[in-house]
This record gives sequence, C-alpha cells and structure tokens, in this order.
Amino acid sequence: MAYFTRRIAYLEDVGLQSDRGHPMKQRLIDLLPPATLAGVVAFWGFAPQSVVDTWWTLPVMALGIMAFIQCAELVFERHAGWRINTRELLTDMFYVAFGFGVIGWLTETLVESPLGQLKEALGIATPWLATWPFVVQVACVVLLIEFGQYWMHRWMHNWTPLWLTHAPHHHITQLNAMKGAVGNPIELFLISLSVVALFDFDKAALFAAFSSMGVISSFAHANVRANPPIWYSFFLTTIRHHSLHHTALSYEDTRCNYGNSVILFDRIFGTYKDGESEVVGQDDRRRLSIKEQWLFPFQGWLDKRAKG
Ligand SMILES: [Zn+2]
Ligand SMILES: [Zn+2]
Repeated sequence: MAYFTRRIAYLEDVGLQSDRGHPMKQRLIDLLPPATLAGVVAFWGFAPQSVVDTWWTLPVMALGIMAFIQCAELVFERHAGWRINTRELLTDMFYVAFGFGVIGWLTETLVESPLGQLKEALGIATPWLATWPFVVQVACVVLLIEFGQYWMHRWMHNWTPLWLTHAPHHHITQLNAMKGAVGNPIELFLISLSVVALFDFDKAALFAAFSSMGVISSFAHANVRANPPIWYSFFLTTIRHHSLHHTALSYEDTRCNYGNSVILFDRIFGTYKDGESEVVGQDDRRRLSIKEQWLFPFQGWLDKRAKG
C-alpha cells in the first residue's frame, strides 16, 4: 500500500513538473547539481597555491555552496511542503555553525591530529599520491571517505545504540539544503570520521573532494526540482535516492540508499533502491526540537529515571 501511495505521489509530481515549464528548461535545471560540482572542482583545480593556502578559502567555499543551493530552493522548488521557513532556517544554520565550529574542532583534535602524528611515527609516507592527475585524486578522496561513511551509516541503521544517535536526523519532517548538517552531536562526530589524514594527497585535491561532497550531499537533501541525468545519478546520490531513505511511508525503504554522496556503493553492496518520497520523517512525523535531538539517545534512560 505504502508503495502505491508513494508511486502515485511520484507520478503526480512528475506530472506537475512537466506542467511547470518547458522541458528544455527542466533539463537545464536537472543539470544544476553536475554543473555546480564541475564548477567547484574546476575552482580548486585552477586556484593558485596562495588561494588554496589561505585558511578561510575552504570554509567560505563550503558556506557559499550551501547558500547557493538554499537560494536555488527558492527559485526551483520541488515540494511546497518542504518550503523553508524561519524556524527551519535558523535551526539549520545553527547546525551548520555547530558542525564547522564544535564538531570540526573535535574531529581535528581527537582524530585528524593524532592520526597525523601516528602517520609520522610509523613513517607512513605516500607523496606519490600528489603526483596523480588532479581529478583522479579528488575521486580517490571522495571514494575513501564515502566508503567509510557508507558502512558507518549502514551500521547506524542496524545497531540500536548507533541508531539512537542517527534517529534524530530521520525525524526531520522536510528536506532542505542544510539538512545534512542536522542531527545528534554524537552522530555528527561519528559520521565525520575518516582515515584520509593518513594519506598525502595534494591539498587542493583534498579540498576539492570536501567541497564536492558538500555539493552532492547538499543537493541530495535540498528542496530543488533537479533530477540529474543517469551519468550523474548512477554514481552520485540525488534527492530522489535520499528522500526515499528519509521516507515516512515505509520502514524497508529507509533501509536503502545509505550513500551520503556515492550511491554507487549501494548498487555494489545491494542496498540500492529506485524511487523517491515527498513524505519524510520518523514514526508519527513529529518534528523534534534541538533539545530533543540532543537528548534522544538518552531519552529511554531519562524516562526510566524520572519514573523512579
Ligand atoms: Zn539514515
Ligand atoms: Zn539525510
């Protein structure tokens, strides 16, 4: 039943989309994610070393990507029900700031820097990586980080203690450009982990990879009417894949499409499912406050304690 409801919603949506404008215009909108991705990779590929070395270039790029995609929602809206409002926007911006500030600092202090020291101590050196073609390096970094994220995300859906940290992200009731940043702090920390600090990739390629994942995963959460062509969506996650992962209509459908940016891993490991969903959320689809999102993993224990 849930499948048919979703199917009908999808067909209606496709119908609406064809009414919205000239097919040529829609085809151009569909190219927005790949064009943004190409622009970002080209920026880092051609940026002078002094620009790459400036400490604020990467964060400004990351914020610029999110602002751009958030603005695209206003022009090329996908679902009126997902339209951003002040409360959603402020919550999302809080999480973006929290992610860059606190989670970024924690990851750097607790993981990246110790890994870098371990690498020095063990004498691991891979300077030859930086001699590979720029785009190949970018792809390697994306695949390396996303491989870990795929399994971490899948594990989060299959082991209760981890699910309790990830569930708040599934309680969001609408999708928007910055929603990828919304979740319980423990989850946000866990999903930021990677072993990329053990490798000597070129700095610009590393930054291009981070920015690329920002573009792909922001579009995969965004209320933008873009359905990229198959040469993009076969490899990279789109809003269709990820909205199905967030569906409130079928438990089974949330157990697919784990790839944050690289949907290819789902195709390889048998968790890929085609489709999309406009109705997103968890359980009774009640929106959680930031406090509820933060206390979520401990709520059962807190309730038990309150009862005495
Ligand atoms: Zn999930
Ligand atoms: Zn998500």
